[in-house]
Amino acid sequence: MPLDLILRRARLTEHREPLLDIGIADGRIAEIAADIASDAPHAQIDGRLIIPGFVETHIHLDKSCILERCRNEKGTLEEAIAAVANAKRAFTEADIYARAQRTLEKAIVQGTTRMRTHVEVDPRVGLKGFNAVRHLARDYAWALDLQICAFPQEGLTNDPGTEELLIEACEQGADLIGGCPYTDTDPMTHIARIFEIARRFDLDIDFHLDFDIDPSWMHLDEVCRQTEAHRWGGRVAVGHVTKLSAVDHTRLAEIGRRLADAGVAVTVLPATDLFLMGRAHQHHVPRGVAPVHRLLGHGVTCSLATNNVLNPFTPYGDCSLMRMANLYANIAQVGAPADLAACFDMVTTLPARLINAADYGIAVGRPADLVVLDSRDPAMAVAELAQPLFGMKRGRRSFSRPAATLHRPS
Ligand SMILES: [Zn+2]
Repeated sequence: MPLDLILRRARLTEHREPLLDIGIADGRIAEIAADIASDAPHAQIDGRLIIPGFVETHIHLDKSCILERCRNEKGTLEEAIAAVANAKRAFTEADIYARAQRTLEKAIVQGTTRMRTHVEVDPRVGLKGFNAVRHLARDYAWALDLQICAFPQEGLTNDPGTEELLIEACEQGADLIGGCPYTDTDPMTHIARIFEIARRFDLDIDFHLDFDIDPSWMHLDEVCRQTEAHRWGGRVAVGHVTKLSAVDHTRLAEIGRRLADAGVAVTVLPATDLFLMGRAHQHHVPRGVAPVHRLLGHGVTCSLATNNVLNPFTPYGDCSLMRMANLYANIAQVGAPADLAACFDMVTTLPARLINAADYGIAVGRPADLVVLDSRDPAMAVAELAQPLFGMKRGRRSFSRPAATLHRPS
């Protein structure tokens, strides 16, 4: 098959040397070799890193960009949930679409090629968020694969009508189902019902979980137990688990082995966790971010993700996963090159595994999802916040952001 494009002298994260050419045909990677003999059009990568794109496992497109409508004066989780619960009564599909689009486009130009978004479903907002984001997923399939996780942010058993709406979302094609037991008056039944619905529709599960810094109890135990009981290992993820920031290394290692045995993956949301946790402290404020790089050695699949953008949960956000990796490394006091490289893995290969993206990776036959970073080394990319220069999805250029130019006096 004739090649459509060759990316010349690219550096892959897993094979740094020699530099390789990547030949693309019909939207897929057709050839990888040290020097592809072809007169097809080419782009010089000049030894820069090339990756299959960043993978965002946890973001809320539907409630992004609402800071001008609601605030979080005390900065607590409870106030954030209440503020958004009130604001979302006025959401319309067009409004959700416009805000989600703004956030999604930021993620695309930051080099994200795959994303899992949570979407709130309950009697106040109905399926407006689900419908708007589903529409968005179709409209932006040229740039990004978007998984939709329908979930009950304000609880399930305590919120009549929510379960029916969740089931309706599953019937209409939600990619997976989420849970939020910490807002439910009956968290154990909440967890059990989510597993039952997941089994009925054969869906992966992604829980918001253990979102405080009191280590005396955890819902994680029940999620691991149910994952094993339903043989759902490899299909369950939990986000936040900030309680893990409050346990010692011995207990953390025990939990790591438990998670690995059960097949439960973990996503850390550094920006949100750092913003909302420890608000009872006026000084020496705990960081409240789970040190998940310490779980990798036990075989736990861990990712770092964005979560909220410009809303009461997190009044920041550029949707850069490179920035999230750097922020995490800084908070977790990660400095050794191997650990910095692990932070890079937690925004690329590991989240791809978490969302069960079987065709992620740079290999012949895989989709030509390729992002060029202005860096030559994954650890240094995290340290220096390497910028993505351009990217493509299924062989078609999806964004470019040229490197900065210095204008020296002549
Ligand atoms: Zn979340």
